Amino acid sequence: MTEEKEDRHDRTRLFFGERRFMDLAESRVLVVGAGAVGSEVICRLARVGVGELVLVDPDRVEASNLNRGSFFDRHALETAEYKVDCVARGVAQIAPESEVEIHAAPIEEAPERVWSVDGIVLAVDDNRARQYVNTRLLGEENLNIPVINAAIGRTFCEVQLLIPGKTACLLCLWGERYHDSLMKERVREACNPFFERARESFPALGVVGSMAADLAATEAIKWLSGSSSREREGKWPEGFEPAIGESIRFDLGTYVCRRGPILRNPRCVEIFCRSSRD
Ligand SMILES: [Zn+2]
Repeated sequence: MTEEKEDRHDRTRLFFGERRFMDLAESRVLVVGAGAVGSEVICRLARVGVGELVLVDPDRVEASNLNRGSFFDRHALETAEYKVDCVARGVAQIAPESEVEIHAAPIEEAPERVWSVDGIVLAVDDNRARQYVNTRLLGEENLNIPVINAAIGRTFCEVQLLIPGKTACLLCLWGERYHDSLMKERVREACNPFFERARESFPALGVVGSMAADLAATEAIKWLSGSSSREREGKWPEGFEPAIGESIRFDLGTYVCRRGPILRNPRCVEIFCRSSRD
């Protein structure tokens, strides 16, 4: 094969075929959170040729981020760069044809257009952001948008692919007491303009974050490359079906991987989840 015939997407095209590759290239994905997981998800989606990436995160790069997240570098640290700027700079190097739209803001303050996407990856360690995204997805105009929720623990990562309103929502597993304490905190914050949420530090290894990113990006890629062919042919591409309504948990300490369905909770704390039909 001559050099002109090979391009950066040569192997990807061989994997998907031209039509499904074009489905990927025409996709638009929102990634909420540009930390260790979100920035790596963006990297993987850009490399596979997703055409439009929307990235939302209010934080700047700090020294403690440099043990994970391959885009985070000395320049970002020295200039206290926003994570979204740093990631956009990185994507321009590896996949210049992917468009990156960035918002250095909390997801609650992002403009309306970030919601017109084919899928969402949620890579945050903030359950209030999860709750906000969940509520948005249960709204009339955003039904049927899949959300891939990525979370990490000390040695494990977990990824869920949900379509709130159709499958379980992001809050179906939440207890009432937890939900109430979160709501109370929100009210306290609204009443006190100087309220600063204490951010706890957790142990975090880069390998756990990038494994979470790999699983989340895989589910996103399965969805984006397969949903049009499912509409055309009535089924997902065999052997590469997204795990809709399921949770996948992989432990790097034991190498045990478990997957299973997340059932809809008829007593979900989110009223729009309880009242929505399949
Ligand atoms: Zn629910």
